[in-house]
Amino acid sequence: MMLKLSCRTAITLVAVVVTASGVAQTAPGTLLQGATVVDGTGERAFVGDVLVVDGLIAAVGPTGSLEVPAGVVIESLEGLVLAPGFVDIHNHSTDRLAGDPTARTQIAQGVTTIVVGADGGSPWPIAGYLDDLDRMGLSISVATLVGHGTVRHAAMGDDYKRPATAAEVADMAQRVERGMHEGAFGLSSGLEYDPGFYSETDELIELARIAAEQGGFYMSHIRDEEEGVLDAVAEAIQIGGATGIPVQISHVKAGNAAVWGKSVDILKLITAARAQGIDVLADQYPYTAWQSSLSIVVRSRKFQDPEEVHEGIAAVGGGNRLQIIGYEDDRSVNGMRLDEVAASWDMTEVEAYMHMMAQGGSGVIGHTMNEDDVDRFMASEFVMTASDGGVGSAHPRGAGAFARILGHYVRERGVVSLERAIQRGTSMPAARLGLDDRGVIQAGRRADLVAFDPTTVHARSTFRYSLRQAEGVHRTWVNGVVVWADDQATNASPGGALRRATR
Ligand SMILES: [Zn+2]
Repeated sequence: MMLKLSCRTAITLVAVVVTASGVAQTAPGTLLQGATVVDGTGERAFVGDVLVVDGLIAAVGPTGSLEVPAGVVIESLEGLVLAPGFVDIHNHSTDRLAGDPTARTQIAQGVTTIVVGADGGSPWPIAGYLDDLDRMGLSISVATLVGHGTVRHAAMGDDYKRPATAAEVADMAQRVERGMHEGAFGLSSGLEYDPGFYSETDELIELARIAAEQGGFYMSHIRDEEEGVLDAVAEAIQIGGATGIPVQISHVKAGNAAVWGKSVDILKLITAARAQGIDVLADQYPYTAWQSSLSIVVRSRKFQDPEEVHEGIAAVGGGNRLQIIGYEDDRSVNGMRLDEVAASWDMTEVEAYMHMMAQGGSGVIGHTMNEDDVDRFMASEFVMTASDGGVGSAHPRGAGAFARILGHYVRERGVVSLERAIQRGTSMPAARLGLDDRGVIQAGRRADLVAFDPTTVHARSTFRYSLRQAEGVHRTWVNGVVVWADDQATNASPGGALRRATR
């Protein structure tokens, strides 16, 4: 498929090489020599050379096999792995890029393309947002989805706690179409959040049909990730079956102790749907804790009903599994678990919860998943990596998801092979997006690349210090330009907005 890519730095006649000190030079190209090349396809690694010219990969081959034009800059990457840059299909850097156009914590992990507008909440209007991105001088490339919640709120205003009328659905459909025309890559939903929570499946089918007609995909934070998770997965599959749209289940998980082990059944549903020709895939972040708003703990949404609140806290395994973040009314409690907050306020956990909800609610990190489920999803061929974080994330996944896979799941625990770990962060999401110009190290593709030390790469971000940048990434290139070198951003701006070609 053809893509109209509007990058801030247009491809120039000669490649621009930015040295470690950030000094730009012109050269007829760069030969990245002697790296262990993991090309993103899942094929076995090989020791090879990659020639980069004019922002593109010009040639790839075993070391010493390429014809190298005179004047090419040679950079030895011996001992390092060279992979395609990571494509993060679920990223929340939306508004934070303006304050950090280099996206330091992202490029420090080798992330080169991100997709915002997940969970039903997107920038609006899409065209204005993308134009703004192009003025920021971004180091990375950014795509967006159009959010179901965003168009639902626009169509229904504050009167959204009910099914939409036919006229309102038609209004939403028009907005989805507009968003797709303005360059969005698909439709996202967040059915555990306002206002998506109140939508019926038929409404989603109507809107998914519009996105499908425009060549987009449907990415959903499904209705329930706990006791109702199988029904919620089935609903996402139903939307795919009814419209033919490719379906992406966001941050797939068995969300609390009541459903531990259900990863088996979730994967069975996905496998069965795929056998019927429904193109459903999922993504995950490599952690056993999720991040959301405190409201989702009480499924009935009766936040001031002590019985319901008690039940909700019990269902996640107790207040010590809920870590409060972003609570505005009393910032001293941020980082504490709910049981600690309760103790500091001299309240019960139920009272502390009700108080926080009455004061406008809070963010929360829920330490409620099981490592076996995370491992099982990771080993599945139908699950890719996405951070669900981004610049400034309060969850360590924002600064760590891609590095943690390489350090913890590949090197330390061997849950996936290196080749597979790279594939699930590069060619899989790129294919899902229809971005056929990246995600694989192959002649003709964009030179979005990362070189890292496989013996040391690791995430340093923690639940206490979520912004610590990853270590072990030697270089990150976007469109052939070095954006990360020797633990520093170069401040080069070869990135910008990606706009899907309209039909
Ligand atoms: Zn989500």
